[in-house]
Amino acid sequence: MSRIYLDNAATTPIDKQVIEVMLPYMENHFGNPSSIHAEGRKAKTAIEEARKTVAKHLNCSIGEIFFTSCGTEANNMAIKGAVKDLEVQTIITTEIEHHCNLHSYEYVHKNYGTEIKYLPLNGDGTIQYEVLEEWLSKADKKTLVSLMYANNEIGNLLDVNKIAQLCHSYNALFHTDTVQAIGHYPIDLTHTKVHFLAGSAHKFHGPKGIGFIYINNDVRLQPYMDGGSQERNMRGGTENVIGIVGLAKALDLACQEMEQRRIYIQSLKHFLKNQLLTNFHDVQFNGNQEANLYTVLSVSLPENARSETLLMHLDIAGIAVSGGSACNSGAETASHVISKLQNASNRRTIRFSFSHFNTKQELDKVIEVLRSVL
Ligand code: PLP
Repeated sequence: MSRIYLDNAATTPIDKQVIEVMLPYMENHFGNPSSIHAEGRKAKTAIEEARKTVAKHLNCSIGEIFFTSCGTEANNMAIKGAVKDLEVQTIITTEIEHHCNLHSYEYVHKNYGTEIKYLPLNGDGTIQYEVLEEWLSKADKKTLVSLMYANNEIGNLLDVNKIAQLCHSYNALFHTDTVQAIGHYPIDLTHTKVHFLAGSAHKFHGPKGIGFIYINNDVRLQPYMDGGSQERNMRGGTENVIGIVGLAKALDLACQEMEQRRIYIQSLKHFLKNQLLTNFHDVQFNGNQEANLYTVLSVSLPENARSETLLMHLDIAGIAVSGGSACNSGAETASHVISKLQNASNRRTIRFSFSHFNTKQELDKVIEVLRSVL
């Protein structure tokens, strides 16, 4: 039975074209990029070519891109670096950021006394831009605004340009977690003033274990990881050459095919949304439906006897989706995002997340299975 994978916000299948460019770096070009011989230089060149590719797609300079082990590391680096090295004393954020950010705020609060201010949220999880402006206008300490571009659970999109302008007007630093947006939306860092941005290859059909941070040239952080002089002294440790090569190829493909992928994926999301509304009673969609990540559809269903085990039934039927809950060590706990939304109680959440590898036939099958289970 071929499986139907609709959990692309968790991770995406790696593209075969990406594997192809990675293979030679596994089989033949194994040199250490810090070595000065031909093998080393070959690896070093591959890293610098990859950096060029990333910088080109984000319209920034190559010196502003640093490869990391994942999106989590990039976000940790931005938040902790801003506090340790740039005298940030206040962070303005929300309670529905990814845990790698939320736990980093907690860390700096506990260890450096940083004040963490959570913006109030509307019922659909959107922020009130006026409140952010009011807080920024009254800020008397160095402030970092840390807000995600696209929410991984409910797909809410941030108006990044607007936030960047606000931060610029009030002299605040701006960090945005773009892990779910990179490769899906054009990002132009020459025209949008962001100080820190995080990306992760496995969310856009690249390999796992490789990400990057953009650090604007106007700010300087101390090394995050002490060691050799890799990543221009910012992050010691022999580079993940294979991953870096794969990340660049995956980003290149995502950016080149962005428009056609977007149109196709959007049509899948539209189709599933309509089918759910037609086939089931009292279906609601979580998050801001006006500005929503096209790869994510968070569905809220009324509780019934079968909905508790819905994900398990779908899995058994060959369909991989995710729930509105975090599963840590096998224990399901209510999602920190869904629980902040209006009407969150007594409903079940399923998150469908799509890629251009999905088909309409797969969605027909999903509806058929859902009808039989519910
Ligand atoms: N930020 C967001 C919004 C995410 O969705 C994820 C992954 O789920 C991360 C950060 C962490 O990325 P990584 O898995 O590369 O550490």
